[in-house]
Amino acid sequence: MMKILDPSKFAQLPDAILFDTDNTLYAYDPAHAVAQKAVRDKVIKTFSISGDDFDSAFKEARAQVKLRLKETASSHSRLLYLQRMLEIMGLGSQVLLALDFEQTYWRTFLGNAVLFSDVKELLDDIRLLGIPTAIVTDLTAQIQFRKVVYFGLDQYFDYIVTSEEAGFDKPHEAPFQIALEKMNPKGNCIWMVGDNSINDISGARQSINAVTLQKVHAGVQVGSGPHMPDAIFEDFFQLRKLLDKLSQD
Ligand SMILES: [Mg+2]
Repeated sequence: MMKILDPSKFAQLPDAILFDTDNTLYAYDPAHAVAQKAVRDKVIKTFSISGDDFDSAFKEARAQVKLRLKETASSHSRLLYLQRMLEIMGLGSQVLLALDFEQTYWRTFLGNAVLFSDVKELLDDIRLLGIPTAIVTDLTAQIQFRKVVYFGLDQYFDYIVTSEEAGFDKPHEAPFQIALEKMNPKGNCIWMVGDNSINDISGARQSINAVTLQKVHAGVQVGSGPHMPDAIFEDFFQLRKLLDKLSQD
C-alpha cells in the first residue's frame, strides 16, 4: 500500500533520493534480538553469571554511554556498551573480550538481517532514471560500511553520510546537508526515505525541505502532526510504481 498524504509534493520526479538504512532497507528488530541474545549467552557462559546480572550491567552500561555521548555516532557503539558493561561487572576494561563480544554481536546481526524485497530493483530503477542517491545513517562508519557491503548495496548508492562523519545524529541538519553537498543535485526536489518519523521525516523536512516518504512495517510508528510524512508505504514495489508513474507524466 502507498498512501500519498500531500499530493502536491509528488508532481515531478525527484532530483535526488536520500535513504536511511537501519529499519528502512531491512527490519532491524529481529536481527538485533538474535544478536543481543548471542552476546548475552556468551557473556553468561564466560563468567558463569545469571541472565539478570548481564541484563542489569548491560542496561546500566548502555545508559551511561548514551548519557555521556548524547546524539553522536559513538552513543550507539556496541563496543563501548560492552567495554563499560565489563567495567561495571568489576572486571576492568577487558579489551580482548569486549572486541570478541562485539564481533559476536555484529556477525550474528548481519547473519540475520534480511534486505526488504524490491530494494535492489528500486535502486536499479533509480539508476536508470539517472537520479543520484545517498545513504544518510546514524552510527559509525566502520559498521555501516560493513552493512552496506554485506547487503551487496555498495555499487547501488552514489554516496554515504554517517553520523560519525557528520558529528551529529539525525535529526540534526548536518548529515542531510553534507549529503546534498556531496550530491550537488540539479534541482531542489529531494526525497528522503526512512522509517523514523522524527529523525528521518521531520529531520529531513526541517533541514533540507525534503519530500518525505516513511517506510512502514511492524513496530514502526507513523508520524503525526509535525512529524507526518508526505507519503507512507509498506512495500518498496509501491515506490517503484510511483517513480514509474512520475517518469511517464
Ligand atoms: Mg532507521
